[in-house]
Amino acid sequence: MAKRSYTKTPMKEQAPEIRNQNFSEVALGYSLEEGQLEASRCLQCKNAPCIQNCPVMIDIPGFIKQIEEGDMAAASEILSKYTNLPAICGRVCPQEKQCEMVCRLGQSKKFEPVAIGKLERLVADWALQQPIEPLAISHDKGKVAVIGSGPSGLTAAGDLAKLGYEVTIFEALHMPGGVLTYGIPEFRLPKAIVSKEIERIQATGVTIETNVVVGKTITMEEIMADFDACYLSVGAGAPNFMGIPGTSLNGVYSSSEYLTRINLMKGYEFPTYDTPVQKSKNVVVIGGGNVAMDAARSAKRLGAENVSIIYRRSREELPAREEEYHHSVEEGINYHWLSNPIEYLNDGTGKLTAVKCVKMELGEPDESGRRRPQVIPGSEFIVEADTAIEAIGQGANRVLLDTFPELQLNRWGYIDADPATGATSIPGVFAGGDIVTGAATVILAMGAGKVAATQIDQYIQTKKAEVTV
Ligand SMILES: Cc1cc2nc3c(=O)[nH]c(=O)nc-3n(C[C@H](O)[C@H](O)[C@H](O)COP(=O)(O)OP(=O)(O)OC[C@H]3O[C@@H](n4cnc5c(N)ncnc54)[C@H](O)[C@@H]3O)c2cc1C
Ligand code: SF4
Repeated sequence: MAKRSYTKTPMKEQAPEIRNQNFSEVALGYSLEEGQLEASRCLQCKNAPCIQNCPVMIDIPGFIKQIEEGDMAAASEILSKYTNLPAICGRVCPQEKQCEMVCRLGQSKKFEPVAIGKLERLVADWALQQPIEPLAISHDKGKVAVIGSGPSGLTAAGDLAKLGYEVTIFEALHMPGGVLTYGIPEFRLPKAIVSKEIERIQATGVTIETNVVVGKTITMEEIMADFDACYLSVGAGAPNFMGIPGTSLNGVYSSSEYLTRINLMKGYEFPTYDTPVQKSKNVVVIGGGNVAMDAARSAKRLGAENVSIIYRRSREELPAREEEYHHSVEEGINYHWLSNPIEYLNDGTGKLTAVKCVKMELGEPDESGRRRPQVIPGSEFIVEADTAIEAIGQGANRVLLDTFPELQLNRWGYIDADPATGATSIPGVFAGGDIVTGAATVILAMGAGKVAATQIDQYIQTKKAEVTV
């Protein structure tokens, strides 16, 4: 038998100096042979820890074994038992903090963990090339409404349809997918892939109604009257701002606006698409998460000469996925570590010209265990900028919540739902994803959708049994 490679099988990528000028996908995927080679590194562990650390508990050694044997249909069948969005998770899950973090192979000093995410992507991309057959399921168990079509809503909807429910998703925007469609850029997650995974979910019988803002276009009362139960998965899409002087200057954006113009409205193809996006020379992005990386890398692709990320902590605390950080450095993004903006400056005409910042140092750990950044007095410095993008986090969108005061919220303004069931303070109303946890990850949002689907099924069946008695 060939010797097991110490390192992950590399995946081909577009060269940095080419890809930072286009929006096409950076990572190009494994061939079947490369996938088989990588699959052969898996130890096929008993009580595999990778499964335990996957929020939807995919049978990881199971599907990897099938890849090794070259049976993609069998690998895909295993994946589809656990996830409705494998092509997406394979691309954007922070595997290094989940399944791959505990992979037994990676625990041995010499070896890198199995590239579980890349293998998941290989299988899912194979599956997306197969014809989509509508599933012959009768939807006669009841009616469920899902509010919001992000990963949480799509997962709950797909699972409920497979269980035999008539499911309608109501989505405020003109396209479904939530952050997958309007937030994460094409170069990390091609929109054709998102659309295909959504089509597969629709093939289970799910109906998606776009341009419906629940709380405005229709009310929660109407939904509760028309459906046996509902699932609220409206995400955490309202941008936070630092609130420093100069925020209203021309050139200061929230990451939500900047990325929505680019991803949802295809601003990078202006004027073929009619939404413009600012052409910039010097861009500053504030924050250190995936959102900041996406905004900075998008700005570079739009032709900006200098793009820098200002982060108040150090490299070690950076919350973004490792791969995105490395890609950003390769693409020429600069970093100001331990720095924080305190004011946006202008030339008197209302246009941003520079960002005034201060240097920080790390003090004692805060509640999250991360060392708290503190300002170093007298450390001001100026970064020239015609565009500044704030990517410092999002909060709960109030449109639906404000029209539904009966629903109990927690102290951060998110929906107070039982994490074990998704049940809220109102019977028949379930919730999950970012609107419960605050901004988190795709896989956690999907996990919540799975839990809710099972619980909604139980709720409706129990109620029906009570009525029959
Ligand atoms: C730019 C960016 C990059 C990210 N990168 C990653 C990553 O690499 N890996 C990762 O795991 N996670 C990433 N995340 C986080 C991840 O995308 C979210 O955790 C996940 O999308 C949450 O899913 P959700 O279904 O709860 O909500 P969302 O995806 O936010 O979807 C909610 C949907 O509800 C709709 N909606 C809101 N209000 C209403 C209403 N009143 N009526 C009808 N519809 C409504 C919204 O329009 C939206 O479509 C990223 C987030 C952003 C913003
Ligand atoms: S822990 Fe790693 S080596 Fe073990 S089964 Fe999972 S992927 Fe394979």
